[in-house]
Amino acid sequence: MDVIEKLAVLGDAARFDVACTSSGSERSASSGAGVGSTVAGGICHTWTDDGRCISLLKVLLTNHCDYDCAYCRNRSSNDVPRAAFRPEELAMLTIEFYRRNYIEGLFLSSGVVRDADHTMGLMIETLRLLREVHLFRGYVHVKVIPGASPEAVERIGRLADRVSVNVELPSTRSLLSLAPQKKPADIEAPMAYIADRRSANREELVRYRGAPTFAPAGQSTQLIVGATPDRDVQILRLSKNLYSRFDMKRVFFSAYIPTNAHPLLPALTSAPPLLREHRLYQADWLMRFYRFDVEEIVDSGSPDLDLDLDPKSAWAMRHLDRFPVDVNRADYETLLRVPGIGVLSAQRVVAARRLGRLRTEDLRPLGIVMKRARFFLTAAGRYAAERIPQAAELRVLLADKCGQKGYAPFQLRIEDLPVVAEGA
Ligand code: SF4
Repeated sequence: MDVIEKLAVLGDAARFDVACTSSGSERSASSGAGVGSTVAGGICHTWTDDGRCISLLKVLLTNHCDYDCAYCRNRSSNDVPRAAFRPEELAMLTIEFYRRNYIEGLFLSSGVVRDADHTMGLMIETLRLLREVHLFRGYVHVKVIPGASPEAVERIGRLADRVSVNVELPSTRSLLSLAPQKKPADIEAPMAYIADRRSANREELVRYRGAPTFAPAGQSTQLIVGATPDRDVQILRLSKNLYSRFDMKRVFFSAYIPTNAHPLLPALTSAPPLLREHRLYQADWLMRFYRFDVEEIVDSGSPDLDLDLDPKSAWAMRHLDRFPVDVNRADYETLLRVPGIGVLSAQRVVAARRLGRLRTEDLRPLGIVMKRARFFLTAAGRYAAERIPQAAELRVLLADKCGQKGYAPFQLRIEDLPVVAEGA
């Protein structure tokens, strides 16, 4: 099998991995030898004239895997075409693609061959060749194999911009049922190491600007949504926990795409829960940038997100007694909770009203989405909509188009999963 044939197999095998953003890392080739650069706060993507996005080469080092995770197309028991790059092949392919302007970086994951550290050794060698032989200074995101030793994580963190260890499934019970070779401790230990090293590295860089960096674009993780009966409240609590314990840059949600027949998984004909994934991202955004707590968005009594409404509108519908608010008097936190007002538009409101009293016609130019916000605001003594709608009517008016795509939730209950002892 030649390198391009391997690429066809291993590029296709990698398409279920998410987490391609490349923000947060800064390095320039202009300061020395080497090719490629990354830009802090940006995304290493370019768009061609015909609108195609050229971004990272997203590929597995190998899709051979000794593990048999039920949800994975590359599991050992599946009869699928297999391939493996040698480190020098993948390093050369990446640099050639970079030089031809096909890509600006590499997103590298792998099946588990022999054990975590053996696989990590092959990934480390690929990156070493890229960085030290080909002097590639572009963005690299690497998936750390659960169970990798601190030494392996240290080496990969020195070479990559971003590292991530996939949580995979939202609960220990789901993980042990569907991916019994992956232990929660094997996932958490490298995450904790990365968080500690990044913290130490920040201090090193303050003391000595030339200190080697460790995963300067931080760590992220990925959760599969809809493969198991875990509820949104569990997913969002876990997400919050991951952000606070491991200093995550991003928790990515990935709608489960059925690829294998299994009694504990949705039927092969099930549609991926893309709308649910979208709502989880919206909820995650509310927690990270709008000062919402998980329990304000979902709780044990209402454990799943409303698929018809974005989570902020759903929250506002449950708290209609707090609205409308006066856009000239409401504090910043209150403005952030108004559907249709984002972080930037809330800041603009606060700045603009210092100059004079805002009227309803002043709001749209500040970036406020009046289609939603008008039902929740007054300005200069006037309600911003034509009339106050009834709650049922308001719900219809706030429903976004995403909700019309439909989504059939997976019906298996958490109690249906077999209990497997941790560490088995
Ligand atoms: S470890 Fe599991 S999820 Fe990863 S490639 Fe192997 S079977 Fe798939």
